[in-house]
Amino acid sequence: MPEGDTIFRAARTLNRALSGRIVTAFDSVFPKLTRVHDDTPITGRTVESVTANGKHVLMAFSGNLVLRTHMRMNGSWHIYRPAERWQRPGRDMRIVLATAEYVAVGFSIPVAEWIKASAVERHDELRRLGPDLLAESFDALEAAARLRARPDVEIADVLLNQRVMAGIGNVYKSEVLFACRVSPFALVRTLTDQQLDCLISTARKFLRANVTEGLAAMTIYMGFRRTTRRDHPGERLWVYGRVGEPCRRCGTPVEIGKQGRDARLTYWCPACQP
Ligand SMILES: [Zn+2]
Repeated sequence: MPEGDTIFRAARTLNRALSGRIVTAFDSVFPKLTRVHDDTPITGRTVESVTANGKHVLMAFSGNLVLRTHMRMNGSWHIYRPAERWQRPGRDMRIVLATAEYVAVGFSIPVAEWIKASAVERHDELRRLGPDLLAESFDALEAAARLRARPDVEIADVLLNQRVMAGIGNVYKSEVLFACRVSPFALVRTLTDQQLDCLISTARKFLRANVTEGLAAMTIYMGFRRTTRRDHPGERLWVYGRVGEPCRRCGTPVEIGKQGRDARLTYWCPACQP
């Protein structure tokens, strides 16, 4: 699952490429998207803005219409010049949105829908998101309260819950827990306020640090996946992906385990995170 910072940067890149421009073509494999296009054409509308809300990408068009997409595990938005060759096969295309200058292509996107701009605030999934770690207005007290409201859940699992805080994916989950020396298996109720504060502030620090880096490489081609880390030069992970390798702090081999309802992988140092 992409991390919040990746979505945030993607939305920012899409916004730079598309906002203020007029849509010249629209296509999608989703019938419910094309139906709206047939009735009230997207072509001719102006892209007003592209923003990230947690891990949702919201593209606002003139005429009170917003396209909400969510990437889940494998979806991504790419930006191309009109005649440029796509970096993924055409069969993975889900949405194409063209302007005179750029073409945005959504590949393997599993969730897409139109929302009336006036209804975004009331949207069921968006409304339930916890405080957005990348928002200027991030509310740390509210985030802490939402953590505390889940006393009997393992902390690693709670950190992935977008209704608690929006933005943490599986990579930062392990990294943030390591940085704060918290065991991924600790139940929330066993953690001190200081530990929760550390997790919240570190998550925000990590996500924000990545938003300010690696912009140049993303202006034209932009994938959501973090597997290739070219867009994060110099980034060094503490435990994620390092099973069996020595902990960078104490030398103990990093361990791996599956955790939670979705059996997501967790990496941790058993010595630093007892
Ligand atoms: Zn260690």
